[in-house]
Amino acid sequence: MRQTYDAVIIGAGIMGCSSALQLARRGLKIALVEKGAIGEGPTGRSSAIIRQHYSNELTARMALYGLRVFEDFEEQVGGDCGFRRTGFVLVVDAKDREGLQANLALQHRIGIQAELVAPEALREIMPGLAFTDLVAAAYEPDSGYADPHLTVTSYERAARRLGVTVFPGTEAKGVRFEGGRVIGVETSRNELDTPVVLNCAGAWGAQVARMAGVEVPINACRVQVAFFKRPADHEGSHPVVADFVNATYFRSETGDLTLAGLVDPSEADAVVDPDNYIERVDFDFVSDLGERLVRRYPGLERSESRGGFASLYAITPDWHPIVDEVPPDSGFYICSGFSGHGFKLGPAVGVMAADMITGKSEPEFDPHIFRASRYAERDEIRGQYEYSIAG
Ligand SMILES: Cc1cc2nc3c(=O)[nH]c(=O)nc-3n(C[C@H](O)[C@H](O)[C@H](O)COP(=O)(O)OP(=O)(O)OC[C@H]3O[C@@H](n4cnc5c(N)ncnc54)[C@H](O)[C@@H]3O)c2cc1C
Repeated sequence: MRQTYDAVIIGAGIMGCSSALQLARRGLKIALVEKGAIGEGPTGRSSAIIRQHYSNELTARMALYGLRVFEDFEEQVGGDCGFRRTGFVLVVDAKDREGLQANLALQHRIGIQAELVAPEALREIMPGLAFTDLVAAAYEPDSGYADPHLTVTSYERAARRLGVTVFPGTEAKGVRFEGGRVIGVETSRNELDTPVVLNCAGAWGAQVARMAGVEVPINACRVQVAFFKRPADHEGSHPVVADFVNATYFRSETGDLTLAGLVDPSEADAVVDPDNYIERVDFDFVSDLGERLVRRYPGLERSESRGGFASLYAITPDWHPIVDEVPPDSGFYICSGFSGHGFKLGPAVGVMAADMITGKSEPEFDPHIFRASRYAERDEIRGQYEYSIAG
């Protein structure tokens, strides 16, 4: 039997689940189609760091909104997200000093708690950090990280409670149009009738856009994460650190582990087939990352490697997502390409997508800067740093 929905969402990572919840809160009948299991994709493997340092106001406001939701998750979404407030430290050298100061001024304008700290003051914030090569550091006391799998499954359950029909293990195979407007989705199991499709397919976002005859510059890029077991005199949790000097980020993980990865623009070059890539971590990656980490956090010299994994970023040319209806008035919406920093934005993205689809005249988060045409218009989003991930 054919089933009819107000909107069909393709992809149940954090963007799809958060959008489903927000659309259901507005009374829409929603189907959420996921080809794998919920939480199994890149969202579930996210480092899930929640910081608010950004170079543009919209994204910083979205990150702040996200922080407020993660802090009060049971009330605002339901269930648990495993939020841990550890603080966030960003350290830069001379070339990024001005950018850091400009971003702090932006943060203060919109009410984000963040401060410029002298490198020596880091001794108090995170004992054991080496800082002789630094010129500036920013500290966000409220930031931290969450449990990504718990978060996305809590969102999915909250959406189900509001009547969203979730189809796990169901792949969207095609989008049907009539007279230039969406009329349905063909899946591996059934046909769904709908006037609205929301493409939340992340690293598969370009593939799903092609089902609607739309080309978008979203690449699936392989990225790696590694774990290190800290020595006994470095037990307990530590702040999240983004180290632009050594191009790394790291945070604590349960079991006195430190989870770490790179903050490196060349990650955009590792384009892979999202359905066929090597998911184990490379030995060379672990050894290079370990050396970089020891320069900032010398105690890790005595750590033990505890493996790691590879997953996917969905990277666009300016490392910001595409959130737009393309073609205009077609009913086909894209909300993909979060370029390795979308987890923290997930709560706000749901609101953004729901406002866009329901045509709210004064949206909470106006997606204009994320429009698909910005690349052709040469109006890409520019950040303060070479590392666009913090843009
Ligand atoms: C290793 C790593 C570390 C990260 N660290 C951070 C961080 O510290 N902080 C932060 O904010 N962000 C971080 N990110 C980024 C963040 O996790 C992502 O931006 C975010 O999770 C993307 O969510 P999504 O819903 O857009 O995509 P995804 O989680 O990729 O979900 C898309 C879903 O669509 C499904 N799908 C695809 N095609 C189809 C189809 N045809 N039919 C049905 N389903 C389909 C896929 O199976 C997938 O489950 C990290 C990402 C990775 C990989």
